[in-house]
Amino acid sequence: MPRTRLAPSPTGALHLGNARTFLVNWALARQLGWEVVLRIEDLDGPRVKVGASDAAIDTLRWLGMDWDEGPLYQLADPAPYTAALKRLAAAGQAYPCRCTRKEIEAASVSAPHAGEHELRYPGTCRPETPLPVEFRAEADEAWRLRVADEAVAFVDSLAGEQWENPQQTVGDFLVRTKAGLPSYQLAVVIDDHRQQIDRVVRGDDLLSSTHRQLLVQRALQTGPPPEYFHLPMVVGQDGRRLAKRHGDSRVAEYRRRGVPAERIVGLLAEWCGLGKRTAMNAADFLEAFDLDHLPEGQIVFGPEDDAWLLD
Ligand code: GLU
Repeated sequence: MPRTRLAPSPTGALHLGNARTFLVNWALARQLGWEVVLRIEDLDGPRVKVGASDAAIDTLRWLGMDWDEGPLYQLADPAPYTAALKRLAAAGQAYPCRCTRKEIEAASVSAPHAGEHELRYPGTCRPETPLPVEFRAEADEAWRLRVADEAVAFVDSLAGEQWENPQQTVGDFLVRTKAGLPSYQLAVVIDDHRQQIDRVVRGDDLLSSTHRQLLVQRALQTGPPPEYFHLPMVVGQDGRRLAKRHGDSRVAEYRRRGVPAERIVGLLAEWCGLGKRTAMNAADFLEAFDLDHLPEGQIVFGPEDDAWLLD
């Protein structure tokens, strides 16, 4: 049976944009008979907020979603990340890097979302030839994947044909951060592999990351890649990814203000092309959901949406 995952990062409360992606992921899975794993991406070190994992789980449940396995926490079993780093190092595919400042910021453990500044690593610490080295878990030492200068292509089930040369866009990217944590790009590959995930549904701000993840998968020989579905994002009226600057669009905040889950799901349903907004629960959404009706462009969240929820 195919398997997918809901993978919230407990770095802040879920907003309407995240909720829409999760609801689409869940509905697709339930319609097509995929198993659903709930993975909490709690590796995100300093950005993880106390209580945010429980809050994310609570919000997903309140909206009416369910899952077959989990919550699985990344920090509960970090050994496979280290094992992967050892294998990459022994194969000459990863090398240590002590470069400071911005390069490190550029490839943090967080999923890099569209519009966030990413720098290309210029290859300062890259050995001339891919020599096997022993991985050492030293403090203050990052590790980078040796990335060939060639295009990586895949076909996304929603976004269509994709093409990028990661060496030109980001260069040798981090697999371990200076803080000693596996990078997002490494962790997601390990997690998808160990949890046997073969269907990935997420925001299209992660399209570019997918090319990097395909490279990590190849280097670790994790088998065929998952099938990817990247959804267009919900943005504010300024065209930027929904965030705090657009006002408080957190689901938990609407809930606190007395908005019923059915209103939120109803708004998300309209954003999924299911007709004019009307209150509905997750079961109604599931029945109505049709991937073919999903709008191709971005969804714009504006004050009238906020007003409708609070009405
Ligand atoms: N936890 C990530 C996020 O919230 C999702 C990463 C993924 O789906 O690969 O952006």
